[in-house]
Amino acid sequence: MGGYGSGGWNRTGRLTTSDALRLDVNSLNRSGALVPGRYSTSTWTRGAEPIGAINISAAEDSITLVYRSRTGDQDWADNRERVRVSWEPGGFGGQRPFFHCPDCTRRVLQLYGLRRYLCRHCHGLCYPSQRECDSDRAQRRANRIRVELGGEPGWRNIPSRPKGMHRRTYDRLINKIIVADAVTDDGAVRLLARLQTSVQKGARGFWS
Ligand SMILES: [Zn+2]
Repeated sequence: MGGYGSGGWNRTGRLTTSDALRLDVNSLNRSGALVPGRYSTSTWTRGAEPIGAINISAAEDSITLVYRSRTGDQDWADNRERVRVSWEPGGFGGQRPFFHCPDCTRRVLQLYGLRRYLCRHCHGLCYPSQRECDSDRAQRRANRIRVELGGEPGWRNIPSRPKGMHRRTYDRLINKIIVADAVTDDGAVRLLARLQTSVQKGARGFWS
């Protein structure tokens, strides 16, 4: 299954999806964990060793994850994350479940647990085989626009409006830069904050 720290860094030096605890909506569905009213525990192991566990309580259109985590040497903290679940008609008359990322609401099949359980975009995670992250691509795009406007490349660098350029054209380009910077922000800043995070071994006593 791959757990925290098992995947290592990819060649760009970023965390990859195999560094986080992965929660898969289809696996949960198969195990019955999405049935409203159901309480269950999801555990991760590396070899024979347990490396993480969360408790899951299912409601009509969401699940609530309860787990403990800590950053660096700090004390363990209780965490609670509500994740919306939606259903779509699938093959053979069935229904296919989707998570909605608690942060960006993006519809996804997998969430990744660092300190929070979010989609890979929000954590800025790459797939292990991916050579660059979304944020790198976004920054390259933004830098092209910066140079086009006569400015300097660089994160959060907003060039001024070139003479003769329509205000609306300029605003549209600047908006693209801001959106790209937000992607980088997510990737870089949040990742740093979560780097030292782990999940408690075992999860007994959560519901008591
Ligand atoms: Zn997200």
